[in-house]
Amino acid sequence: MESIDKAYINGEFVTLTGHETFELINPSDHQKIGEVVLGNEIDAQQAIAAAKEAFKTFSRTSIEERILILNNLKSAVKNRKKDLIETMILEYGGTRQFCTASFQNMISGFDSMIETLRHFEFVRKEGNTSVQMTPVGVVGIITPWNSSNSFICNKFATAVAAGCTVVVKPSEMSALQTRIIIECFHSAGLPKGIFNVVNGLGNVVGTEIVSSPDISKISFTGSTQTGKMIAKGAVDTMKRVTLELGGKSPNIILDDADLTQVIPQAVFAAYMNSGQACIAPTRLLVPYSKLEEVNAIAKIAVEQVRVGNPEDEETNVGPMVSEKQYERVQNYIKIGIEEGAELLAGGIGKPEGFENGNFVKATIFTNVRNDMRIAREEIFGPVLSIIPYHNDEEAIAIANDTTYGLAAYISSQDERRAVNVASRIEAGRICINGFKHDPLAPFGGFKQSGIGREFGAYGLEEYLELKSILI
Ligand code: NAD
Repeated sequence: MESIDKAYINGEFVTLTGHETFELINPSDHQKIGEVVLGNEIDAQQAIAAAKEAFKTFSRTSIEERILILNNLKSAVKNRKKDLIETMILEYGGTRQFCTASFQNMISGFDSMIETLRHFEFVRKEGNTSVQMTPVGVVGIITPWNSSNSFICNKFATAVAAGCTVVVKPSEMSALQTRIIIECFHSAGLPKGIFNVVNGLGNVVGTEIVSSPDISKISFTGSTQTGKMIAKGAVDTMKRVTLELGGKSPNIILDDADLTQVIPQAVFAAYMNSGQACIAPTRLLVPYSKLEEVNAIAKIAVEQVRVGNPEDEETNVGPMVSEKQYERVQNYIKIGIEEGAELLAGGIGKPEGFENGNFVKATIFTNVRNDMRIAREEIFGPVLSIIPYHNDEEAIAIANDTTYGLAAYISSQDERRAVNVASRIEAGRICINGFKHDPLAPFGGFKQSGIGREFGAYGLEEYLELKSILI
C-alpha cells in the first residue's frame, strides 16, 4: 500500500505542511490501495512562489529550448507507459482499452505543441504595429480524476510552449497516477520551479490557487458546477480562465445512415471510459420511422458490451470511480424509470458476479423525451438515451436544446448533408461518421461546456497575452 505524502515544488519532493489524509480505494473491489496526504494553503503558497520565481527566466526561453524540453518530457512519459496504464486501471478502474488510449493522448499533447511551435508566430504585424504574444504568467492547472494525466500533460505542454510555469492541483483521487507523471517530468531534467504539484482538496488547495494574485490564469477541466465556482473566484484578480466542463453530447443518426453499422458503434461509444467521459455521445437521436429497428439493433449490441474487470483486454465497461459516483448513476437510472422512459437494457443494481465493486449495468433507455432529466443532465456513467425525432429540423433543434455544447456526432451516407447539419449544431467539436480526435484541432465547449479552447495554435493562444508595440 502506497502513501503519497510529498508535494513537488521547485524540482524537489517536499514534505507537506498539511496532515489530513484521503484514502485511495480500488473501485473494482473496494480494497484500500493507498492514501494521500492532503496539502493545505501554505503548501499551495510555496508552490506558487516557486512557479513565480521560475517564470522570470523561463518566460524568456527560446522556442528551440521549449521544443527540446517538450521532446524530453515526451520521451520520459513514453518510458513509463506500462506503469502509467496499470496505475490508471488500479486507481480509477478505467478499462485497459480506455487507459491505453488515454496514454496515447498524453503523448499527443506533447506532439501537438511541438508541431504548433514549429509554425507559430509569436510576433505579428497588424498595420504599423508590432504585436507580441507573451506568456501570460503562472498558470494554475486543476484537473479531474478521469484521464487525469492526459489533461496534466496537455496543459503543461501548452504552458511550456508558451513560456509559462505551472502549479498543478490534480484530483485527490488521482494521487498514484500523478506521482508517476511527476517522476517522469523530474527525470526529464526540467528547469526547477516550472512544474509544481500539490495534492489536496478543491476547496483548500484549489481555492488558494484560484484566489492567488500571483497566478495569472487557471486552466481547469472538471464539472460545470465547479467550473462556475472557479470562474467566480477568478474574477477578483481578473485571471484568464480556460474551462473544459461537462457535456451531454448528441449523436444524430440521419435517415440515410446504415443502421447495422452505426448503431452498434453508437452504443459502444456511449460507454467510452465506462460512460465517464465528457465527450461521450449519450443522446442518440434517431428517426421515428426507424425507432423499432434501432431498438432491436441496440439491444443486440448491448449484449456484446462486456462489463467487468478493467484489467481484461476485452472489457468495455469497468467500475465507476467511487461509490458516490455509483450511487449517482443508480439514482439517474431510477429517475429515468420514474420519468417513464422505456428501459431497453440494464437497469438498477450491479451486474451478477460484480457485487464487490462500483459496477453498473450497461443501460439503455429508449423513447426518451429530451425534456427528461436523463436527457438533460450529465450522468457520467454507462447510460444511453435513445431519443426519436421526425425530421432533420427537429433533430437539430433537439441536439441544440441543452445547456451543454461540448461535442456532437452525425452519421449519414451523404457527407455534404452531414456537414450542413454540423454547421447548425452548437458544439465545439463535431465528428462525422466516426469518433475522432485531432490534437491540432481546437477543443472546447459552447455554452455551459466551457470557456476557451485547448490544443494546437488556438490552445497556445490561451496561454499568451497580446502586446501591441506602436513605434
Ligand atoms: P470536479 O469538478 O468535481 O473536480 C475537478 C477538480 O476540481 C478536482 O481536482 C477538484 O478537487 C477541483 N475542485 C473542486 N472544487 C473546487 C473549488 N471550489 N476550487 C478549485 N478547485 C476545485 O470534477 P470530477 O468529478 O473530478 O470530473 C468529472 C467532471 O469533469 C465531469 O463533469 C466531466 O464532464 C468533466 N470533464 C470535462 C472534460 C472536458 O474536456 N470538457 C474532460 C474530462 C472531464
